[in-house]
Amino acid sequence: MLDINKIRADFPILTQKVNGKPLVYFDNGATSQKPQVVIDAISKYYQEINANIHRGVHTLSQLATDAYELSRGKIQDHINAEFTHEVLFTSGTTFGINLVANGFASILKPGDEVLVSSLEHHSNIVPWQMLCEKTGATLKVIPMNDNGELIMEAFDKLLSDKTKIVTVNHISNALGTVNPIKYMIDKAHEFGAAVLIDGAQAVPHVKPDVQALDCDFYVFSGHKMCGPTGIGILYGKEAWLNKLPPYQGGGEMIKEVTFEKTTYAELPHKFEAGTPNIAGGIVLGAAVDYMNSIGFENIQKQELELLEYGTQRLLEIEGLKIYGTAATKTSVISFNIEGIHPYDIGTIIDKLGIAVRTGHHCAQPIMNYFKIPGTIRASFSFYNTKEEIDAMVEAIKRAKTMLS
Ligand code: PMP
Repeated sequence: MLDINKIRADFPILTQKVNGKPLVYFDNGATSQKPQVVIDAISKYYQEINANIHRGVHTLSQLATDAYELSRGKIQDHINAEFTHEVLFTSGTTFGINLVANGFASILKPGDEVLVSSLEHHSNIVPWQMLCEKTGATLKVIPMNDNGELIMEAFDKLLSDKTKIVTVNHISNALGTVNPIKYMIDKAHEFGAAVLIDGAQAVPHVKPDVQALDCDFYVFSGHKMCGPTGIGILYGKEAWLNKLPPYQGGGEMIKEVTFEKTTYAELPHKFEAGTPNIAGGIVLGAAVDYMNSIGFENIQKQELELLEYGTQRLLEIEGLKIYGTAATKTSVISFNIEGIHPYDIGTIIDKLGIAVRTGHHCAQPIMNYFKIPGTIRASFSFYNTKEEIDAMVEAIKRAKTMLS
C-alpha cells in the first residue's frame, strides 16, 4: 500500500498554489512532475562532474562518461534489453521514431506497406507518411471500434508479405487504451515485418520487457516517467540497428573520417552524433531508480483505483460522455460535456487550480473518428489522490453551471 502523503512530499511542485488554489495536476499524459531526487541529480551533475563525455582523458570527463554509461546500463536492466548497445539515448520518442522511419527509407520499395494504427499520436503517423512519400510505399491503417480498441480481425487481414513494418503505441495518449502489442508483434513477425512500439505513454505505468515482447524497436521519452525533458530512449534489436544507416552525421558517430570515405562507429555510438544530453541521460537513470523504488505494482494499483473512482465520479455529471472505454485501459479519462467546448471547461477549471489537457491531444484522426474537435483529458499519476478527483468534479460542475 502506497503512503501517498510521503510520495507527494517527494514532489515539491505539488505543494504549489495555482491561481490561488492548491494545484491539482492531472496533465500527467503530457508530462509528469519531477521528484526532488531527480531535481537534485540535475544540480549534482552540473555542480560536480560536468564535462564532455567519451573523449576526454581528464578525470571529470571520465566521471561524466561513467555516470552516463551507468545510466544506459540501468535502462537496459529496466527494459530487459539483451545488450547495453541496443539502448540508444535520443531526445525523446519523436526523435526515436524519426530515426527508425528515416532508416527504413533504405529498405522500402514502391509497393511495400507500412501499417500504423488509428490510435496513434501524430509523432507515430507523420514520420511514416514522410517515409512513404519518399519511397513509394503505402501507409495502411489498422481501424478501431467505438470503445477505442484496435480491431484485431482487421489487423490480421491487413498483414501480408508486403508489410515491412508495423508501428503502434503500447498505450494511447488520447484514450488510455492498452493495445494487445504482444499479439500484434507475434502476428507481424509471421509475415517477416518489423514492429516498432511507441512506449511514450506506457513507461510511466509499466516496466516493458523488450525481450519477452520480442519487439524490434521500443521508444519512449524520459519526461513522462519523472525524468527531465530532452532525453529519451530508442531500444532496437542489435541486428536491426546494424542494418539501419546512421541518422545524423557528426562527431562521436564515426570510426574514421577522410574526405574520400567515413566509416561509422559501433553501436550505440553510430546513432549518437554530437554532444548528447549528458545531464539528461544521467538523470533519466535517477528517474528510473525512483520509479522502481515506488514499484510498478504499487503504481498500477494506485492508478487503477484513481481510474475507477474518477470514471464513476465524472459519470455523475449530466451530459458527460467518456471517449475510450476499452476493456484494458490506463489512468486516462478523455471526456466531453454535451453542448460545451472542451477548451471552455479547461480554461475555467484552470482558474480553480485544476490542470487538465484540452484539445486533440496530437491525435486528430481519433477526434475525427468520434466527430469531435477535441476532449478534456484528465490523466492520473500514482501521486494523485481521490480528493483531487473530487476537487476536479466540483470544479467541472461549477464550470458547467457557468457555461450552460
Ligand atoms: N507518442 C505518444 C503516445 C505520446 O503520448 C507522445 C507525447 N505526448 C509522443 C509520442 C511524443 O513524445 P515526445 O513529445 O516526448 O517526443
